[in-house]
Amino acid sequence: MGHIKKGELTEEEKELLEVIGKGTVQEAGTLLSSKNVRVNCLDENGMTPLMHAAYKGKLEMCQLLLRHGADVNCHQHEHGYTALMFAALSGNKDITWVMLEAGAETDVVNSVGRTAAQMAAFVGQHDCVAIINNFFPRERLDYYTKPQGLDKEPKLPPKLAGPLHKIITTTNLHPVKIVMLVNENPLLAEAVALSKCYKVMDLICEKCMKQRDMNEVLAMKMHYISCIFQKCINFLKDGENKLDTLIKSLLKGRPSDGFPVYQEKVIRESIRKFPYCEASLLQQLVRSIAPVEIGSDPTAFSVLTQAITGQVGFVDVDFCTTCGEKGASKRCSVCKMVIYCDQTCQKTHWFTHKKICKDLKALYEKQQLEATREESHEENNGKLDVNSNCVSEDQAEAETAIPQENSNPGDSAEGEKETLRSEAGQTDRPDPPAGPQSSEE
Ligand SMILES: [Zn+2]
Ligand SMILES: [Zn+2]
Repeated sequence: MGHIKKGELTEEEKELLEVIGKGTVQEAGTLLSSKNVRVNCLDENGMTPLMHAAYKGKLEMCQLLLRHGADVNCHQHEHGYTALMFAALSGNKDITWVMLEAGAETDVVNSVGRTAAQMAAFVGQHDCVAIINNFFPRERLDYYTKPQGLDKEPKLPPKLAGPLHKIITTTNLHPVKIVMLVNENPLLAEAVALSKCYKVMDLICEKCMKQRDMNEVLAMKMHYISCIFQKCINFLKDGENKLDTLIKSLLKGRPSDGFPVYQEKVIRESIRKFPYCEASLLQQLVRSIAPVEIGSDPTAFSVLTQAITGQVGFVDVDFCTTCGEKGASKRCSVCKMVIYCDQTCQKTHWFTHKKICKDLKALYEKQQLEATREESHEENNGKLDVNSNCVSEDQAEAETAIPQENSNPGDSAEGEKETLRSEAGQTDRPDPPAGPQSSEE
């Protein structure tokens, strides 16, 4: 094939670039099997077909091109962009992930010295930034599944590598989510397996800090997950179902306002125990967290998440009250003040939420009243009467089923306003239960 020159495309290669934008994967596949098509050909700007596909957000095209040997690290673009940079700029999370799995290097810079993550952050593609910053190649974990040096046994049993990798690459660092991921895998949810895992993570943490291109973010993440695993081990030692007990402890709210004090303390303690006190990330975290009284904002979880995933602002997205997962859209039908991924998360939280649900409902109604007052003159003429909106105590406890109507997780503020208006206009009774009820103790 020889050296590939920019802009010297065959007719079939020109057609391939067209097809990537507008055609089908089958058409592209046919062209790729032609001997007149080089998978890493360059257009006049130095863009490969893979870069085109990434930029245009064509996931299946990217996968097809990679299967045909596309070079994920081609760096011939006139401004030094790589396929990963195009993927991250396009904001396509799946394509970003596919590029990383195909071996895209994350520290390559463009002609103005920016990495893919920095470019994505610059244009506000924070999900892609999080994916890049949290990517950890499976091979680096698999290294520990083979005996090294004088060891007879590998440090990590091979069967644990998959489940552990899933946890390591998560961008949701909520302690409840991590314990849930452990709990749902029988291989992981036992003390011996977890202690092997946390020791490996401590080794990776050490490596991240000692290598020349130190990665404090990854080191902190490994250390933090290691701490959560050690908590799991402590609870597992006490007997059956103890991870459920840990989840409950992490969720239990204090009587005054439902704030999960133990959870906050666990996260703060994990950060403080980071073994490299000279790390600037540690100092930055401690500076942000130390002056905050427990129960005030920002929480240790939000500070840690921001530092590790690069995610900024918890305002425009809805996070599950139980597990911190993004894009939660199911509101508690009684108080409408908390939001969950699904009924499982809601049921898990109910034992503590039920103690403050009614107070939150009162708060919600107060806010609702204030909001509607502003509009009531033209829209409702004061028809709204919140005092008739009283539910008996038992009824309130039973009605925690998730309403169906909240299907716009992207825009909670608007969504809430929408609910307010429609309720003020039609009825002021709470939504009827829409599914199995979770009133059990
Ligand atoms: Zn959840
Ligand atoms: Zn509620």
